[in-house]
This record gives sequence, C-alpha cells and structure tokens, in this order.
Amino acid sequence: MRRLDLKKAQAARLNTIRDINRQIVLNYVREREPISRADIARETNLQRSTISAIVEDLKTEGLVEEVGEGESTGGRRPTLLRLRTKEAIAIGVAITPSVTTVATSDLAGRVIDQEEFPTDPDADKTLNQVITLVRELSRRNKGSIEAVGVSLPGLVDPATGNAVYIPYFQWRDIPVSQVITKAVGLPVVIDNDANAVALAELWFGRPEVSDARDFILVLVAEGVGTGIIFDGQVYRGQRGAAGEFGHMVIGTHAPVPCSCGNHDCWEAFSSEGAAMARYSKLIGSPINPPFGFRELVDRALAGESGAKAALVETARYLGVGISNLVVGFSPEAVVVGGEIARAWPFIESALTETIEHSVRRGLPSATILPSTLGEKPTLRGALSLVLASKFAAAFAA
Ligand SMILES: [Zn+2]
Repeated sequence: MRRLDLKKAQAARLNTIRDINRQIVLNYVREREPISRADIARETNLQRSTISAIVEDLKTEGLVEEVGEGESTGGRRPTLLRLRTKEAIAIGVAITPSVTTVATSDLAGRVIDQEEFPTDPDADKTLNQVITLVRELSRRNKGSIEAVGVSLPGLVDPATGNAVYIPYFQWRDIPVSQVITKAVGLPVVIDNDANAVALAELWFGRPEVSDARDFILVLVAEGVGTGIIFDGQVYRGQRGAAGEFGHMVIGTHAPVPCSCGNHDCWEAFSSEGAAMARYSKLIGSPINPPFGFRELVDRALAGESGAKAALVETARYLGVGISNLVVGFSPEAVVVGGEIARAWPFIESALTETIEHSVRRGLPSATILPSTLGEKPTLRGALSLVLASKFAAAFAA
C-alpha cells in the first residue's frame, strides 16, 4: 500500500479521471497498433463515445493518426489507429566520455537522423557543438521538434537541469539545460546515462523488461552505472543521486582506476577499461587506439581465446556487483546494457553462476537479461527522456 502524499493529493484536479482515460487510450494505441476504437472499447470497458472524444483530441494534438481499415466483424469496416510517426518530434543528445551523438526520432522512438563528434573535455566546446547540431536538426524538421533529451555520464540533477559532477572531464555544476534552452529555444530534459537507459528499457525494451514494475539496468561502458526502476518509474533519491553503485567496494587492486580515482570500486573491476586491461595482460602487450572495447568483443565473437577469457573474467566481477543488488533490492529482472551485451553467448554462464552462488539461502533470484536497445543505448535513453513524458501518467495510478 502506498501512503497518500498530501502535497501531491492537493494537486489532484477535477479532470484527473479524464487524464487517466486519455493515457489509457494513448498507451493502447502505442502497444497494440494498429488498433480500432471498438477494440480499445472491448479491452478497457470505456464507453465508445468517451474513446471517440479522446481519439479526436489525440489526433488534434498530433499523437495519433488513422491508417486504413481493419477486418469487418459484420458491419462497417473499422478504422485503425496508430501513433503518428510522420515527423521527428524529439532530439536526443547522448554525451559519453568518448563520443557525443545527436539524433532525431519519431514518437515511436525510431531514430531518423543522427550525427556524432568526439566529446571535448571542455564543457563549453562540447555544448557549443551540441547546440550547432540541435539547431541544424530542428531547422531540417521545420518546427516539429518539441524537446531535447540529454544523457550524461555522471551525477545529474534533472530538477535543476544541472550536470552536478561528470568525473571523466571534472565538469562541476554546469547548467546544461539552461545553456541549450537559451540557445535553441526548446525545452531540455537531462538525466544520468544509466537512468535514461533504464527509462528506455521501461518504455521501449523487450516485454519481460518493460512489463516488470521493478528492475535494475546495469550500464557497462567507460564506467559502470545503474538505473533503478521502482514501481514503474525511475527511483532517483535526493538530487537524483541514487544508483551510484559503480562505486560500491567489491575488492582491492582492480586492474584499472575507477573514474573516482579509487582502485576498489565495482566499476574498476567491471568496466570496458577493466576488460581491456585484462586482455592486454593476457596477450602480454599494451593495446592502443583505435583498438577499443568493440574490437575486443569482435575478437571474442570470432573465437579468440584471450579476448574471451578477458570478457569472462570481467563478467564474473560484474556478477559480484549484480549479486549485491539482487540481494538488496530483489528486483524482477536485471538488464545488462552496453557493448558487452553483444558478448552474451559466452559471458552469460559466468554471470549467472556468480549470481546463483551468491544469492542463496532461499532468497529469490532475478532474471538476468542482455539489453535489446541496440548499438547506442544511451542515445535511446536520451530520446526516451522526451518521449516517455508523452505516454507517462502525470498521476499516481
Ligand atoms: Zn569509484
């Protein structure tokens, strides 16, 4: 049972029921498209007239459109509805320690155009390049872009729109939302990369994940971050600082320093850099760019034993941290995202064995799954920051 929050209860308005019905209809169209008004009425028990009125509103707002006709069940053939995907409505900006990607997507989250550049350690330079690309993409789309979502690899306060601390570049208290909004005139939503990817999994992930009310997303990249979905929403904690499990201590003498500088954090044992350091040690020679983590996974997939061994050992440490999260949170699922998800065929057993070994004594375990968000999960995350607000309920259901 949820305790009633009196501060929020005061804000409940008379049209709350109407808002709830609107979100129900919109989400039926999103998940079951193409779908007719009659099908929505059958599945929801809402009045046909209520649904028709809501659909008219959603059409006017440009969220839903009519597409052709469905099978007749005796009378007139019903008109089918789907999400309106004729134009780009969101811009996503995924800032990672190496590359920044700026892309547009439609309402369904499909990426339309994308551009990228190497992230500059100087915050002003990176933000200026972001602004140039956002301007260019919104000009190309002639006013259809509604908002910009930005994911950042560090501590972010979504309420103020500030990047509080980005360890890779030592950025502190950068007013990211304000700077971009001022320059491009669009609303900007920002979040930590792992939270953004967790949001993308919740809205656009595979059904085992998106249907779960409680799950944890573990993002393995230059660092290791976690996004916690609790009761169907991102759990943020004070100032958005929840989920910094990358810095929980799981050992000593990690193969690389953590982004915080210590050598005992989970991240220092389980990041892409940790796997690369293990590989370098195994083959007995230093590895240099352009050879990167992607190439390491490619080599492992091609059957190279050293590459496989480096990834399997990294997966064991990843499993140690996940075990701690499973014991503490008892989530329905844990999703592993990042390039490492491609290596699933040979890291899965190392991961699950470690987790099963630690989570015992009758405690429930969780399903461990690779992310299905594709090559750039943080970009999907950045886009979700804009798109999810279209479908999410503004009320506590
Ligand atoms: Zn650390």
